[in-house]
Amino acid sequence: MTGIARSIVLTIGDELLLGRTLDSNSAWLADRLSMLGAPVGRMGTIGDVEEDVADAVRDARSRAALVVTTGGLGPTADDRTLAGVAAATAGRVPDAEIPNPRGVEPARWYEPELDTGALLVLPGPPREMTALFEASVPRIRASLGDRLRTVRTRTIATTGIPESRLAPKIQPLVDGVDGVDVAFLPDLHGVDLRLRVQGSSEREATRLLDAAESAIADVVRPFRLTAPSGDVVEALTDALLARGWTLALGESCTGGGIGERMTVRAGASRVFLGGVVAYSNEAKQVLLGVSAATLEEHGAVSEPVAASMAEGAVRAFAADCGLGITGIAGPGGGSEEKPVGTVCYAAATPEGVVVTTGRFRGDRDAVRRRSGQAALVQLLRLVERAP
Ligand code: ATP
Ligand code: MG
Repeated sequence: MTGIARSIVLTIGDELLLGRTLDSNSAWLADRLSMLGAPVGRMGTIGDVEEDVADAVRDARSRAALVVTTGGLGPTADDRTLAGVAAATAGRVPDAEIPNPRGVEPARWYEPELDTGALLVLPGPPREMTALFEASVPRIRASLGDRLRTVRTRTIATTGIPESRLAPKIQPLVDGVDGVDVAFLPDLHGVDLRLRVQGSSEREATRLLDAAESAIADVVRPFRLTAPSGDVVEALTDALLARGWTLALGESCTGGGIGERMTVRAGASRVFLGGVVAYSNEAKQVLLGVSAATLEEHGAVSEPVAASMAEGAVRAFAADCGLGITGIAGPGGGSEEKPVGTVCYAAATPEGVVVTTGRFRGDRDAVRRRSGQAALVQLLRLVERAP
């Protein structure tokens, strides 16, 4: 087998096929193998059946430079992997056994042959599997050596723009940098761009990643979160600290979810003073000083109420900045004028108050998370740009 090394991962076990055990081994191995330079081209799951294991191992070794199996290694009758491997290798003795630092069964290693990839047989329990894989890396390197590619990635966190609008702007720019590709990884808080380069030295990889990053810099700038974690809360905390400003919250539809996020990291107390969860109209009046007239005239989900909640939070906690948020998370409660997903959010800073009405997609959970994120991002940008 020649050319660039590709791997196949086979997980073995009836519990996997029955849906009782979630296959975390494949994901872990895929990540490690791609970093090692033998990216996974296929994955498969096989039951505890000797012939099925034998077929799958034989087939995989004919296709890939490296085959890694997990599971079914134990001594009990339901463990058929060793019998299957014996059938697939015509009874060959493993070229090496790698002792298991966290269990009994060693890993088995078979060297590659002319038209047959290397084979690494690992146990199923994740803590044994991971330790034994790491212990096997020197053998993989020794056998596949120059066929392994250097793989390096760099992640750029964005928020406030959906994948469908971001991808068409970014993709052509990255395509213009040879050897780099990009993956778009969306979640409810934003889209991570993962730049990836393969097949070059460490220095070359860094140079190419730098080139791709500068190619997309202008497009990404308004949406980028530069905090190391890619989390808006970390960025906001840093930006508030830099100004010496404090923050208080007035939350309705997010029910304290923003406060929860603000306090995840140690050191939050340097900027975060507290929040009020004001769900009823009465709570908005009594705790945040929203006037009955404003509620009556505009409704609880309105820009004037959101602004008044942000200002009320500033007053209640004697903070420099405040965030107010009120909306319709659904599934009920929508109207023609204010459909489910309508959320008003306000950011108060010493410079003034800015209010936005957003329409957020998704179920109740998604609306709450997406709107909370948008409210934090609005405040972040104002604090960043404050004179
Ligand atoms: P043992 O000697 O403990 O039986 P084994 O190598 O025979 O180990 P299995 O019997 O297949 O492994 O699996 C043992 C346990 O490991 C499973 O019950 C499950 O909890 C976990 N496991 C197996 N395969 C996977 C997998 N692909 N992803 C996550 N966990 C797994
Ligand atoms: Mg077992």
